Amino acid sequence: MKFQPVFESKHERPYIIAGPCSAETEEQVMTTARALAKQNIDLYRAGIWKPRTAPGSFEGVGVEGLSWLKRVKKETGLKVTTEVAKTDHVFEALKAGIDVLWLGARTTVNPFAVQEVADAIKGVDIPILIKNPINPDFKLWVGAIKRIYNAGITKIGVIHRGFSYYGDTKYRNVPRWQIPIDLMREFPDLTFICDNSHICGRRDILGEVAQKAMDLNFDGLMTETHPDPDNAWSDAKQQITPEVFGDLVKSLVYRNPSSTNRTFNATLDHLRHEIDEIDNEILNLLGKRMNIAGNIGQYKKDNNISILQSARWSEILDAAVAKGAKKELSETFISSFLKAVHQESINRQETVMNSKGIIVK
Ligand code: PEP
Ligand code: MN
Repeated sequence: MKFQPVFESKHERPYIIAGPCSAETEEQVMTTARALAKQNIDLYRAGIWKPRTAPGSFEGVGVEGLSWLKRVKKETGLKVTTEVAKTDHVFEALKAGIDVLWLGARTTVNPFAVQEVADAIKGVDIPILIKNPINPDFKLWVGAIKRIYNAGITKIGVIHRGFSYYGDTKYRNVPRWQIPIDLMREFPDLTFICDNSHICGRRDILGEVAQKAMDLNFDGLMTETHPDPDNAWSDAKQQITPEVFGDLVKSLVYRNPSSTNRTFNATLDHLRHEIDEIDNEILNLLGKRMNIAGNIGQYKKDNNISILQSARWSEILDAAVAKGAKKELSETFISSFLKAVHQESINRQETVMNSKGIIVK
């Protein structure tokens, strides 16, 4: 697959998409747009059709809002984008001259819906931004990109908006940065946008997430802005005023993705070499560890002992978390790493213990 850039020209700072979560009234849409035009943004966003988790929440103003976006284009010169999820959304948005369309997280998750949008835009030359699915499913995200690409769209961007999580976290949607990083590796010429608003769900950490995205070489940001955030009809807790947003963008530090400085590159090469050596050692040790696990499996089998001894496993985990903390290794990292190692050990022991397999009659 070969993608074209979503935005026409590269500039120093990231591409900025900003605007309210939802278009609420013509006045709110216009006030926000005028303020954002002063901040020199690249694309104005506003949701017209809102997929809400709970029925009865504000579900968007519908088609009427498209005429407000047309007015934004005419009076401010800004390009505009809105979310589409169905055939009639696509037709109405195209008729209204919307410049860029985006697929929301609740659409990407559903191949039927993505295909419906893909069929509706077939043969139209319009950029499409595809949010990640709500669950951390890499292949589902790639599947949506392929469906849109197969409809003849090459100006494709992706929006990282984090992933649902059941439980307490700092974020509304946990970022799981490794997933967009893997996507960058697979499709380096896609345009990558970070939607810090839906990742954070709150105002105080919008800046730190935006900076992280810049440090990971994202091309741009999508941030929800509202003239009166506390009274927004949707996503009130995460929206900020256009002025606060302007300050946030100014505070970001843009670093170069690479350098031509020879000393810098030589030092970096040296450090990377050291890391490669350590990775190699870790792999050798893991191989050794698994062989021992296999021997243990055989020994347990000979003595008719079950694989899992929960008490021992809890002890190992607690001790490692405590040791890790002393080396500035986070509890999340140590426990997920050790759990993966433990699972692999169990698999190895299982292969040894049940080498004939389980025969189902
Ligand atoms: C939105 O951008 O307002 C939205 C509904 O986002 P998401 O699809 O990421 O939940
Ligand atoms: Mn929103």
